[in-house]
Amino acid sequence: MEDNNVLIVDVRRSRTDYITRQVKFQTETGTDDPLVIVDIDEIVERYRRWYKLLPRVKLFYALKCNNDERIVNVIARLGGSFDCASKSEIQQILDLGVDPSRIIYANPCKQMSHITYAREHDVDLMTFDSEDELVKIKMLYGSARLLLRFRSKLICKAMYDLGKKFGCIFEEATDLLLSAKRKDLDVIGVSFHVGSNCLNADAFSSSIKEARMIFDIGQQIGFVMEILDIGGGYRGRDCDRPTLEENAAIINQCLDEYFPEADRVKIIAEPGRYLVESAFSAAVNVIGRKLVYTNDKSSIDHVMYNLNDGIYGSFNWVNEIKDGFSMSPVNKKARQEKHSSTVWGPTCCCTDCLATDIHLPLLEVGEWVNVSDIGAYSFCLSTTFNSMPHPNMYYFCSRDNWTLMKYPLDP
Ligand code: PLP
Repeated sequence: MEDNNVLIVDVRRSRTDYITRQVKFQTETGTDDPLVIVDIDEIVERYRRWYKLLPRVKLFYALKCNNDERIVNVIARLGGSFDCASKSEIQQILDLGVDPSRIIYANPCKQMSHITYAREHDVDLMTFDSEDELVKIKMLYGSARLLLRFRSKLICKAMYDLGKKFGCIFEEATDLLLSAKRKDLDVIGVSFHVGSNCLNADAFSSSIKEARMIFDIGQQIGFVMEILDIGGGYRGRDCDRPTLEENAAIINQCLDEYFPEADRVKIIAEPGRYLVESAFSAAVNVIGRKLVYTNDKSSIDHVMYNLNDGIYGSFNWVNEIKDGFSMSPVNKKARQEKHSSTVWGPTCCCTDCLATDIHLPLLEVGEWVNVSDIGAYSFCLSTTFNSMPHPNMYYFCSRDNWTLMKYPLDP
């Protein structure tokens, strides 16, 4: 891994400061391409906060959320484990030198050749939620250690309701466990996911309670149930609720009640968004502007802006957010006028629209705007539609954490 674009900082600064610095650098070097700053110290801090708040819950970072090689490397060196959804994700983690025991193949529906790859590389912990998945696993990796993924009865209020696609219902669990037993497969636990960006912390309490019941059924059938996987779903920004503190209070209480430490059940989780969302911020250039005047031409009715990153690039997630897209000028000069504005991405497609009718100060062509908290489900979904460039990435990291990135991996 090359160290270009990593800036070692003696004193950690705000992400706005980092953005301002890199915008200045790019302006001086005559580059107007979009840029992203990555605050590696933020990821280290959030990782440590996780263990402070959830000391019993081992973190398996969900690689699908953002597989940036530097941040994955940091998480590996901190001792983190990984949730992988495919052969390539498993390969990325193994190539770092991470032991296969630190990987869960947590896609309940796996391509057959990917199961074979997992077997060949000793990644034996995986999830399932259907009879047909059991058949595939029996055929290709009979000694795998399996977690039954279920979906909670409680409606989880989440941005992405994963229960629509994955997880058996409670009533199906017994049949699936019996079938696994008949096939001589090894079920060792239960998993769930309350949905990404989950808004109700009680989704965790009801899911943990249901997981206990499925655990008991598994034990009655004769399995040694030893892992509970409480999935992802934690918020990525500290301003959003439930905060990790609020989720952790409920999770810890339920674990104590239903999975007390004395039972020695290993608890794992698969956070994605929580670790990375707030560590990435973008600065994009205003590459075009159209002032649309009132009919009598006396004043500006609204303004249309074109930015050089958009829906097909780093901001695909904007389609999903309810509270709207927000951005702010990097140059903080005072501006009186605000106008109803439409913000477009750079491609020739009319669906490449980030916001309509938002009130913005009047921006100039060529100036930079800041979009914060873009680390989750952004770059992994971005395209180069219209051959638009990916943003330039700049990584900021304290000296201590930079040293950590060079540490050997724990076995
Ligand atoms: N685990 C699984 C199986 C997932 O499908 C996902 C997201 O889709 C995650 C973990 C990560 O979820 P989040 O980013 O909400 O924490």
